[in-house]
Amino acid sequence: MLDCAIIGGGPAGLTAGLYASRGGLQNVSLFEMGVPGGQITKSSEIENYPGFFDSTKTGLEFMDTWQKQCFAFGLKHEMKKVNSVQKTGKNFTVLLDGGDTVETKTVIVATGAVPRRAGFKGEDEFFGRGVSTCATCDGFFYKDKPVTVLGGGDTALEEAFFLSNICSDVYVVHRRDEFRAAPPTLDRAIRKENIHFITDSIIEDCTGDAMGLSGVDIRNLKTDEVIHMENTGLFVFVGQDVKNDVLKDDSGAFICNMSDLDQVIVDLKMHTSIEGLFVAGDLRIDAPKQVVSAAGDGAIAALQVISYIQEQQ
Ligand code: FAD
Ligand code: NAP
Repeated sequence: MLDCAIIGGGPAGLTAGLYASRGGLQNVSLFEMGVPGGQITKSSEIENYPGFFDSTKTGLEFMDTWQKQCFAFGLKHEMKKVNSVQKTGKNFTVLLDGGDTVETKTVIVATGAVPRRAGFKGEDEFFGRGVSTCATCDGFFYKDKPVTVLGGGDTALEEAFFLSNICSDVYVVHRRDEFRAAPPTLDRAIRKENIHFITDSIIEDCTGDAMGLSGVDIRNLKTDEVIHMENTGLFVFVGQDVKNDVLKDDSGAFICNMSDLDQVIVDLKMHTSIEGLFVAGDLRIDAPKQVVSAAGDGAIAALQVISYIQEQQ
């Protein structure tokens, strides 16, 4: 029987693992279906994590030391996907992909979020073949070539800036003429000569063949004019969807209380509506969607797990 099963190895899960194992729990496992690190490993930069001020480092490099530190105190890592969590009496059963099960006294779910699809024609067909959601992974394929970026949030503008240092031109397509991105991020992009803004516009269609994407059609929502952009990669940054599947039972109903946006309702101590079940990071209601806050959530959840287990003894 585990003291705590942590599901998800992003900033929230890793920090929860650090605090739980360093806080004295002997038997803590972190279930992460990939390499630990989470969404930030897809980022080309991070400049708002206090204490880390090195714009030359990517998100992947930033998370490298997290792993070393978080696994230094006895936290076990199981590279496994979790399918679901069930409350079984006082404890929980974690169902792993492949059929194995694990019994645990408490669970911290920190499964975060994944990039959202925008829903334009051809997006699925050309995904991974010219349509991408990761500039650090795929930007270099477009060295000295033009690329198109869809979205107007922090991710779109940061990644557009990253791409502008590799690609000849970056065309940012945004459906409004106001941006969600933080003002300094927007200003930096506006100042970059090879970043061009195409506002009030959407991607209407993609063109290509078996080799992949070759061009995109961009429609202006105000004038209905359609322009065709040839020879471009397309990077889509239109937000994220929370990963809440592990909290569904066999009937598809959630085992704990959720918001209208299917985020988990927690209190300030990361308690869900189920005793012994905690949620941390981007998956929770009102998450600021930042590494620093996800890490803070993970620490809070782990400290609550320690108190909960002590109270049960
Ligand atoms: P995640 O980072 O999403 O990690 C969740 C983990 O759970 C993943 O590793 C996933 O593989 C795993 N997982 C999911 N489901 C399962 C399952 N069923 N079984 C096992 N494992 C599972 N924030 C900042 O503060 N500064 C920035 O500069 C910044 N830049 C960003 C740039 C980009 C491109 C993106 C996408 C995000 C950026 N963010 C930034 C936001 C930040 O990355 C997130 O807020 C943060 O990573 C959330 O952490 P998390 O631990 O809650 O979830
Ligand atoms: P976001 O803030 O939700 O922005 C998504 C953008 O995509 C918006 O501009 C939105 O347009 C547009 N959009 C959404 N659906 C679309 C569709 N179907 N077609 C076309 N455009 C669409 O997402 P994000 O930029 O990924 O950021 C997510 C969270 O992570 C935010 O809280 C953000 O602050 C945080 N984050 C922080 C940093 C940082 O601190 N440096 C970096 C990255 C991300 P509208 O504006 O019209 O809605």
